[in-house]
Amino acid sequence: LTFETAAALLTSPGEITVEAVEFDPPGQGQIAVRMAAAGVCHTDLHIRDSEDGWGRGFPLLLGHEGSGVVEQVGTGVTVVSPGDRVAIACRVPCGVCALCRRGDTRRCSASSPGAATLRTVDGGTTVTPALGVGLFAERVVVDAGAAVLLPSTFPLDQAAILGCALMTGFGAVINTAHVFPGASVAVVGCGGIGLSAIQGARAAGAGQIVAIDVAPVKLEWASKLGATDVVDASTEDPVESVLSLTKGAGVDFAFEAVGLPSCVDECVRMLATGGVVTIIGVPQPDTRLEVALGGEEGIFAKTSTVLVSHGGDSLPQHDLPTIWQLSAKGILDIEQMLSHRVALDDLDRGFQLMRNAESIRTIVDFDLVSSRGR
Ligand SMILES: [Zn+2]
Ligand SMILES: [Zn+2]
Repeated sequence: LTFETAAALLTSPGEITVEAVEFDPPGQGQIAVRMAAAGVCHTDLHIRDSEDGWGRGFPLLLGHEGSGVVEQVGTGVTVVSPGDRVAIACRVPCGVCALCRRGDTRRCSASSPGAATLRTVDGGTTVTPALGVGLFAERVVVDAGAAVLLPSTFPLDQAAILGCALMTGFGAVINTAHVFPGASVAVVGCGGIGLSAIQGARAAGAGQIVAIDVAPVKLEWASKLGATDVVDASTEDPVESVLSLTKGAGVDFAFEAVGLPSCVDECVRMLATGGVVTIIGVPQPDTRLEVALGGEEGIFAKTSTVLVSHGGDSLPQHDLPTIWQLSAKGILDIEQMLSHRVALDDLDRGFQLMRNAESIRTIVDFDLVSSRGR
């Protein structure tokens, strides 16, 4: 049977309204989940503010990391059952792209779960889950491959930010760059992703971890989550500061979590010989990168490597269990990352907090909706 639920829909650029939607029941390989929490991501914000919903049209259902309790399973689903607590992430390797075919499933270029079928109750307009999953709704249907069974001890609210926020930064360090114990690391941009990279570097046993940002509050967070040094780029030159902090050597690994060519260039210039830059921040479409090639400081002489990491090159089914083991041991601090909670009908406040760089990560807490007397 179809079911109705409340959803926060992106109906036109910048316009989000909560209204009733109707989901088809979970089909082959799908599950129905009652949502507990969903993370608010920069990608959601980019899509919210885009002219055409990134070519997907409207209305769209945003939200691509979350957690909840399985209510119903479709045919062929064996990995989870009704009553199970799950984390939901939107990276599911396609199995058929060129990268998947050569065994590089972490970098699948078409990674996306199969989408649910839903429509508005008022008018019957088809609603598109923006990234294969759409989680800003009280109840959802998702591809079972996007759900990871949670251990009974892991909190549902913390589980909501693992799929994208945590994995993108942590995965860039562990899966993409392969930071080694004792390595020196710099992270440019200390929002949720950068802070996850700092935590990943700490978990990997990095020696020196330099956090760089223009917002003093973010540098405070960075210190709490593993940075050994901080550089306020609004008053100091980041490259000079990193070189001075490393006694002229530069860092083995630099992570760019902003998405600006100037920040990537700084990362390249702060590298030690043989160093690796990993670009995590999503750049604007028209940007180009210019870095020194020749000369003593060029990437040729320094044998520098530049890598790109999408979503931390994560395989949630494999990586999330690693994350909660590290969290149980106190090596990762997920709780500190949850800075704000909003109700479903207050989703725009989550976007505002993000735009003003006031939050590490905001979650939509679905219990808050009920406390408002829905
Ligand atoms: Zn995201
Ligand atoms: Zn693929």
